[in-house]
Amino acid sequence: MDNFKLIEAAERGDRLGRGELARLLTAGEAGAREALFAAAYRVKAAEVGRKVFLRGIVEFSNLCSKDCFYCGIRRSRPGLERFRMEPGEILAAARWADENGYGSLVLQAGEVEGEEFTAFVEDLLRGIKEVSGGRLGVTLSLGEQDEETYRRWFKAGGDRYLLRIETSDPELYRRLHPSDHLFERRRACLELLRRGGWQVGTGMMIGLPGQSAESLADDVLFLRDTDVDMVGMGPYIPHRETPLGAKSGAAARAARSRRLELGLRMIALTRLTLRDVNIAAATALQALDPAGRELGLAAGANIIMPNITPTRYRDAYQLYDGKPCLDENAAACRDCLRQRVEDLGETIGFGERGDSPRFRRRRLS
Ligand code: SAH
Ligand code: SF4
Repeated sequence: MDNFKLIEAAERGDRLGRGELARLLTAGEAGAREALFAAAYRVKAAEVGRKVFLRGIVEFSNLCSKDCFYCGIRRSRPGLERFRMEPGEILAAARWADENGYGSLVLQAGEVEGEEFTAFVEDLLRGIKEVSGGRLGVTLSLGEQDEETYRRWFKAGGDRYLLRIETSDPELYRRLHPSDHLFERRRACLELLRRGGWQVGTGMMIGLPGQSAESLADDVLFLRDTDVDMVGMGPYIPHRETPLGAKSGAAARAARSRRLELGLRMIALTRLTLRDVNIAAATALQALDPAGRELGLAAGANIIMPNITPTRYRDAYQLYDGKPCLDENAAACRDCLRQRVEDLGETIGFGERGDSPRFRRRRLS
């Protein structure tokens, strides 16, 4: 079957295999990429609508006990000033999100385990429900935790949890992390979250050193088999002061357009395969191209996560080099975003939570 026929089959809902997904990731003939994005866009419009939902993200602490080789806030990064925002500042951001019609909030930070942190987040969740009159949907992105912690956070008002598997290839995972960071534990955490009633999101970094098209095809199949509600994935972007980023060298840093293209095609293939899930157009797309997030929407994404962290903390939360909007405040981001989304002919679901249709159907079944 030629690639155009393959795209048509995927749009109709046929299951593509590993080799077919890998082929569409790299297909170079004239018009193939446009056909892929157009098909994914039609599936998005039919399954989740032409409406973008916003999740204001607050990156509230860069303290992290882990040492992922690619990450700019890893534990052993020297010379980085560590911070944790005060609860009052985080609640002010939540109130701002609610008042500005952002239906949901994401709380993200480095990974910290233990009672003090668990109770800190628990109190925050209760506070957020209170300041927003229970309106804001809350996503946590706080890494691997034990079952009891996830249970407490769910009970205190957490709705969704985003935990990227980073890559579905256990061998590649091992090369990206110190030996005590376990792929199997991360996967087990996703199961705990599902059993605990969360809307579960996962995703990968795209364009990692040593990651083949077949490995990315496996990532799409992993998302399908894990039956997630939300997908948050984006290009890997080297950070110079990390082991992986330093090793990546100038050639890898220059391969930005390839990683942007792969990131967009992964969104399209994920939309064609998983259909009714929420898919985020990651900020890392915007780091590679100022219009990256809009390109993500056109390739099948339906979620944008504007950064609403107070600007003074952003410099210290650079997971990768060239993270965008370092000095743009939340209000400026909102206004330019609205314009960009309307230019695409889509609307923003202001004041709506925008739960994934997949999750709603799962609960009814
Ligand atoms: N500590 C939590 C949440 C913060 S990190 C966790 O790890 O789950 C959030 C995500 O940032 C990670 O899952 C990873 O996919 C992404 N990230 C880290 N370093 C990156 C880099 N150099 N390029 C692109 N994404 C990166
Ligand atoms: Fe910590 Fe998350 Fe960065 Fe890993 S990716 S070092 S867990 S913040």
